[in-house]
Amino acid sequence: MAAERRTLIHWFRKGLRVHDNPALTQIFNKARASPDKFSVRPIFVLDPGILDWMQVGANRWRFLQQSLLDLDKNLKELNSRLYIVRGKPVDIFPNLFDRWNVELLTFETDIEPYAMKRDKAVQDIAAAHGVKVDTHCSHTIYNPEIVVAKNFGRAPITYQKFLSVVEKLKLPKVLDKPQRLPNGVQPIADELEVGQSDVYECPTLDQLVKRPQELGINKFPGGEREALRRLDTSLSDEHWVASFEKPNTAPNSLEPSTTVLSPYLKFGCLSARLVHQRLQEILKRHPKHSKPPVSLVGQLLWREFYYTAASVEPNFDRMLGNVYCLQIPWQERPDHLDAWAHGRTGYPFIDAIMRQLRQEGWIHHLARHAVACFLTRGDLWISWEEGQRVFEQLLLDQDWALNAGNWMWLSASAFFHQYFRVYSPVAFGKKTDRTGAYIRKYVPELAKYPAGCIYEPWKATLADQREFGCVLGIDYPHRIVNHDIVHKENIKRMSAAYKINREVRTGKQEDEIDYDSSMSLTTNKRNASFETKRSTAKRKR
Ligand code: FAD
Repeated sequence: MAAERRTLIHWFRKGLRVHDNPALTQIFNKARASPDKFSVRPIFVLDPGILDWMQVGANRWRFLQQSLLDLDKNLKELNSRLYIVRGKPVDIFPNLFDRWNVELLTFETDIEPYAMKRDKAVQDIAAAHGVKVDTHCSHTIYNPEIVVAKNFGRAPITYQKFLSVVEKLKLPKVLDKPQRLPNGVQPIADELEVGQSDVYECPTLDQLVKRPQELGINKFPGGEREALRRLDTSLSDEHWVASFEKPNTAPNSLEPSTTVLSPYLKFGCLSARLVHQRLQEILKRHPKHSKPPVSLVGQLLWREFYYTAASVEPNFDRMLGNVYCLQIPWQERPDHLDAWAHGRTGYPFIDAIMRQLRQEGWIHHLARHAVACFLTRGDLWISWEEGQRVFEQLLLDQDWALNAGNWMWLSASAFFHQYFRVYSPVAFGKKTDRTGAYIRKYVPELAKYPAGCIYEPWKATLADQREFGCVLGIDYPHRIVNHDIVHKENIKRMSAAYKINREVRTGKQEDEIDYDSSMSLTTNKRNASFETKRSTAKRKR
């Protein structure tokens, strides 16, 4: 009898997809095998409290809202639907377990400390209610726990070492979407649904976006459908895929020069394992292809690298108490931080990038390099944690492990240590956009500046500034620092900070240290070549 059927819950958090979703497939298979015994309820828990405390900008809320709507549609095609349950997980699960007579709860594992604490609490509640819990690792290609175990209990701290560990691991099987549920396994309405039929409906945009005035152009809509479409388009040119080398892509092209799969991977609208499999299929047909770290497979493996490192360090997103991170005495300059965050530094290339980020929610990797270096060790000497916070709010693809890991890299706080290689906020952008078309698009005040001085508007005379319709200090800011001077001072500050860190780590004075054996400060050769290639033009300058 339908009333006696027990409920199988799949709890979506990330992993907002039906393809390659082992935890979802598990409950679908179980219900299909015994349709008279089980009903299926895929849920997403929306905690209204997080709307207030989480650093999520309007564009990312919209991406989530679109992804939930799309997921509901995809589940409906499988004869199910998405149930949005509002409340804190620890508050709602005890009720759900009783109200729905739950037998099994499945979800995808997560390595973020907040999520791990939440999941442990829910697992304890489930145990107290006699509910079985099954978890599956499917957000990454490799299970970080296994990678760490294979590396003798420690996360590899260089990319090369990481590669040598994972190349011995078996690749997981990529799953198709689950088979459609038969009629009859849909749950009968619970007491809340009887009272209010739309109680579990997807949130509307206004319910999630508190400051709609901050919504920018919807260039990268959320959802699995769009993710798979984008994947197909990105991989349609096999020669482009096979010859992809990240350092040769442009930070400032008007249309993205890389895949922009990152927001879809972040929310799990797209399976990284599927992307990896599709890439491998293409590379088999093109034996002469680029290789990690610069290839597309190499990009996915950077993601895996940072995930593994982050999985064993709960303080991965901060300097203090973080085993990977050097301690650097950054300065507090709220005025400079604000200028950087809002694209008002007076350096047009930097400002264009930060404005693109605010409007569109995505910027190219090398553009992230330029602005992150500028904020930290290059120019402003402001902590990477501040930059991470701004990115956390504005990026569609904001990801705890990747954001922190890359900020540490760029600020030369961990993983990368060639702090003397500083990006020029003028020359770097010119390399791929001589005429300044990108700046004209995102800093329209400067649109009439000629190519000769659009990267350095301070070189125009006052008369010229008037003629170009943009006077510095009135229509566009004067530069807040002089790069030529400050970057040299900052290199000296970095050198001093490195010296102190070395002395603290080794317990020795500078002149007693054997540098070759000072592992954490030795630059990994592969990592270095990744950066070296990007910096070649700069060094030739
Ligand atoms: P592609 O070049 O097409 O690469 C394909 C995929 O590989 C990406 O979607 C991404 O999942 C992964 N990938 C590529 N580069 C990296 C990298 N360096 N580290 C880890 N994974 C990588 N990426 C995020 O997804 N979320 C973040 O919060 C994030 N914060 C960053 C902060 C800074 C300061 C920097 C320098 C980089 C950050 N990145 C972050 C990494 C990288 O810039 C983006 O993943 C990439 O630009 C996304 O564009 P794409 O999808 O076109 O990348």
